[in-house]
Amino acid sequence: MKKLKYILSIAFVIILVVTMIFINRENKEYESTIYAMNTVMTIKAYGPNAQKGITAAVSEIYRLEHELSVTEPSSKIYEINNASGEPVELVQQKASNDVGDTSDTSALLKESVYISKLTDGAFDISIYPIVKAWGFTEDEFRVPTEEEIKELLNMVGYESIIINDATGSAGVQIPAGFMIDLGGIAKGYAADRVRDILVESGVKNAIINLGGNVLTLGSNPGLGDWKIGIKNPLSDGDIATTVTANNKAVVTSGSYERYFEKDGVRYWHILDPKTGYPAKSGIASVTIIADSSTYADAMSTASFVMGVDKTEELYRQCGDFDYVIVTESGKICSSLNE
Ligand code: AMP
Ligand code: MG
Repeated sequence: MKKLKYILSIAFVIILVVTMIFINRENKEYESTIYAMNTVMTIKAYGPNAQKGITAAVSEIYRLEHELSVTEPSSKIYEINNASGEPVELVQQKASNDVGDTSDTSALLKESVYISKLTDGAFDISIYPIVKAWGFTEDEFRVPTEEEIKELLNMVGYESIIINDATGSAGVQIPAGFMIDLGGIAKGYAADRVRDILVESGVKNAIINLGGNVLTLGSNPGLGDWKIGIKNPLSDGDIATTVTANNKAVVTSGSYERYFEKDGVRYWHILDPKTGYPAKSGIASVTIIADSSTYADAMSTASFVMGVDKTEELYRQCGDFDYVIVTESGKICSSLNE
């Protein structure tokens, strides 16, 4: 009897140690922080496949940074912006010689135009000439004259972006003088790609933060749900609220993210495509929670332009996102309280 007890307790200790080793392996955290797409990006992944996944994800981010860049002459976006009104082919050759529309640029252009239609032009990638005029591209901030903005508004309008992929040879055409920029959606897209790569690598739990575009995978090892703090846009360093978000994108757009001040007036980087001026909808920051980070990124920019009421209207219409808005007066409006 004594012997059996002894054997059982030895077996128990062995099982405990093996379980502890396994949990330790599964929960082991790997982290990488890089600077890309003009922002700080952090990927934290857990488990035995994490390091391999992170390495692959980081190269994908750098690849996308080049492909989607508005300033690099080798990018498709640069080619489109400098095509003087001529169509630009977007076709990519697949390894199997099967010609198809597979480029990230193409996918993002389509999604961008889709969101523009959905938001009645609040999100508009053709706003770029005005973003540039305000100096947000090169950090050479200035306040353009009213005439300049009026003139530039003639070169803004997503309706003029023609995407032709009916025949399998996808192409895009914008009028001469028009310019597009994926700054309001590209980081969200990159986060979706990072998540896909981590999953392909066998990672089960991760948290990706690409400059405010947060995307979670699985749960927080050892702690349960992923809890994401939303910054208080009105008070530096404070958290306005926290959301629980497993396998979700949590993307914030706010006036505090990029701005400059001139003669006591603050001008920020999210512009209203209807006026050409920084969007003044009463929102200080908006966080969109959705399955897709690409969608959440574009929608957060759009929501900032649209304001609380239109965001709420779209929330009821679409049913595929949640929102947390902090208004300029500090009020929190959220679909999560319902
Ligand atoms: P985000 O931080 O995702 O809200 O994106 C803001 C960036 O998107 C800006 O820095 C601009 O490059 C670009 N942008 C500004 N206003 C708009 C707009 N109304 N629609 C689409 N992109 C915009
Ligand atoms: Mg955005």
